Amino acid sequence: GGRRDDDLLAGLNDPQREAVTYRGPALLIVAGAGSGKTSVLTRRVASLLYSREAWPSQILAITFTNKAAGEMRERVEQLVGDSARGMWISTFHSACVRILRREAEQFGFTKAFTIYDSGDSRALLKRLVKEHEADAYGLTPAATQSRISKLKNELADADSYARQANMSDPAERIFIEVFAAYQRELQKANAFDFDDLIGQVVYLFRAFPHVADVYRRRFRHILVDEYQDTNHAQYALIHELTRPVGSDAAPTEHSSGMMIFEPEPAASPDTAGASLTVVGDSDQSIYAFRGADIRNISEFERDYPGAKVVLLEQNYRSTQNILSAANAVIGHNFDRKDKKLWTDVGEGEKIIGFTGYSQHDEAQFIADEIDRIHRAGVDYSEIAVFYRTNSQSRAIEEIFIRSALPYKIMGGTKFYDRAEIKDAMAYLVAVANPADEMAMRRIINRPRRGIGDVTVETIARFAAEQQITFRDALANSASLGVGPKIQKAIAHLDEVLVEAAALMLPASGELAPPTAVAAGLQLLLAKSGYTDALRATKDAQDEARVENLDELVAVAREFARNNPEGTVIDFLSEVALVADTDDLEDASGTVSLMTLHTAKGLEYDAVFVTGVEEDLIPHRISAGEPGGPQEERRLFYVGITRARKRLYLSLAMTRAQFGEVTVAMPSRFLQEIPAELLHWRQSPGDVNSRGGTQSRALNARRPGGGIGGSGGGGGRYGDDLVPLPKRSPSPGIEKFANRIPAKVRDNGDMVLGSGDRIRHEDFGEGRVDAVTGEGAKRVAHVRFDKAGPKKLLIKIAPIEKL
Ligand code: ATP
Ligand code: MG
Repeated sequence: GGRRDDDLLAGLNDPQREAVTYRGPALLIVAGAGSGKTSVLTRRVASLLYSREAWPSQILAITFTNKAAGEMRERVEQLVGDSARGMWISTFHSACVRILRREAEQFGFTKAFTIYDSGDSRALLKRLVKEHEADAYGLTPAATQSRISKLKNELADADSYARQANMSDPAERIFIEVFAAYQRELQKANAFDFDDLIGQVVYLFRAFPHVADVYRRRFRHILVDEYQDTNHAQYALIHELTRPVGSDAAPTEHSSGMMIFEPEPAASPDTAGASLTVVGDSDQSIYAFRGADIRNISEFERDYPGAKVVLLEQNYRSTQNILSAANAVIGHNFDRKDKKLWTDVGEGEKIIGFTGYSQHDEAQFIADEIDRIHRAGVDYSEIAVFYRTNSQSRAIEEIFIRSALPYKIMGGTKFYDRAEIKDAMAYLVAVANPADEMAMRRIINRPRRGIGDVTVETIARFAAEQQITFRDALANSASLGVGPKIQKAIAHLDEVLVEAAALMLPASGELAPPTAVAAGLQLLLAKSGYTDALRATKDAQDEARVENLDELVAVAREFARNNPEGTVIDFLSEVALVADTDDLEDASGTVSLMTLHTAKGLEYDAVFVTGVEEDLIPHRISAGEPGGPQEERRLFYVGITRARKRLYLSLAMTRAQFGEVTVAMPSRFLQEIPAELLHWRQSPGDVNSRGGTQSRALNARRPGGGIGGSGGGGGRYGDDLVPLPKRSPSPGIEKFANRIPAKVRDNGDMVLGSGDRIRHEDFGEGRVDAVTGEGAKRVAHVRFDKAGPKKLLIKIAPIEKL
């Protein structure tokens, strides 16, 4: 009790308070964006520590990014001081890496295992698809990778999948072969891919209950943020961890030949497992394409009987105008529990809309507007620009560079994806995990040492014959039977690796000096001749590459400062786990650019959601996915709910994308925002500064001509929804407005009568009650089985007759 306790609860509203102080086996906090879910989770951790109900080591808090983890740790430390040390606050992946580093030896790996990122997995699959001639069956490395990933997220492996696959289909058989071979290669290389990190811990816990018990005993309080985006494997992991200590599982044979123990029925309360708190918002579920399952939230009460549920509805982030827009948009998703966010900070400014002629025009508006609000006192770091796909950032960057606006791309241009950084990391992997053949193959001729493919295959064959690793084969260069020059090059590489290993991998029991990683990295880059080769070219690009490598050495030094006992293996883990939003430098003093997916959980004073067009948001690939358009709507909702005070929605009339210049159509989501919340801004260089035809055209465009036909939904679908100023008509622009590009649907000719059954992309199936209006303005009045009555503009509605 006492003062500090009051401090912990200060400023919270009643349901938030309850969420912090409730004690029981399971707590679900469901709430809309910006209602304090993450804040409550943080305070709950602080409260457990402060009241001494838990030691730091008994807490496991899972966040969505490493950055979020860092922020949560900082906040908790602010609240309770140093006693926060020893807590596990991390992402699912980081937590699993820590567990695997400790336990990998239980099942045939060593603790120096490598983590394959998506590029590494792809490279391996490329080789396997080729070796199995699987491309003849239409299997591409990319498609195979995504199928394997989906299966792993469901905790399936090649054997379990084979048991229920159609084995008379040769394409299925070959896929299963490649899947199995992929897994064998990972094991051989002492490596896990990203999905394995989670899945293998689940297998480990099920196969070795005594290992699981160690963690069940340890973690008494488990808290998970962004629970709506957990997939089945993550769900199962949490489930394993929250089972009671010593719950004996019934063994069944796992496909790998390992004995697997299926979970028992729910625990009785007296042997209860860890207490579990999850927070989430099903309206922000945006990772279904990666296997996230909203049911993990909706069925929480069934999975954890007696769970307490707390609802938060007051939003502390945004103005009412922004929230009203968010509520209106998400209200169009029909299979959701209705919840309305509100705030007491007042209406705030209107949302500002802008339509550019092109993506550059749109970008120019953004740059001008940022400049304007920056002068008015908004810090650059409080401004963010979001887009649906990475490629959209190019035009924005071009204009920002020209306008000298400081910006930073979060995710996307990943430092660690650069070739020279991957090479340098491969050198470290080659030292730390000599079983990793892929790393060896990557560095063996970088820089060029005259070791070609033929030699590489000779080494691989020798390794296979002698049943030694590729790395060990290098060490025996004299027996390889290659020419003296090549042998000398191989022997030199071997020496460099041995020397670096002596520096970085101390004998057991000995502690490497904290500088070992940075020093080892420098040694590798220097003695292998890598840096010299870059310097020798005098190419400006290569100069930049040398700078990047210096930066990597600086990262290693920084790592040593933060982790005095960290080894090269820890360093490799940390780098492998750098998530999308996590960045090398911090973003202070710069505008943040990122995809809508990356924006999750973040907040900014001013937010620009760009490219609000059909085919971008909703993205055209979503059209064919079940529930796709609804997930896109949630993504849009995530975007607009990031804004505290100012929200901008912008689009372009034409856009160069997918390799062609297309006429873009305003996104259907724009129509879902009540017109009175939006103010459409004119181009700053409007009327006079632009050439005659164009400016006349801009002024002339009459809204409502194209997809905005007002016949459909009445007031909300009114004339204001098409984002251009209204003035006198001009033939040219009118044509544009009426033009529906070929790829946009035109049902103008569809005959519908009352009684007909139809299917709508978003709303599902329904029955036509009546059709009113004429020509392009015909409206179907439809009673949907699930979504209820709706009016649809037949010409453009995504419907088909059944
Ligand atoms: P999201 O769904 O986007 O992840 P969230 O529900 O996790 O949002 P938070 O990020 O925790 O919400 O909180 C949103 C903002 O509201 C933060 O700036 C937070 O500091 C603030 N906030 C939360 N609760 C309160 C409160 N009781 N009083 C004042 N501000 C609050
Ligand atoms: Mg949050």
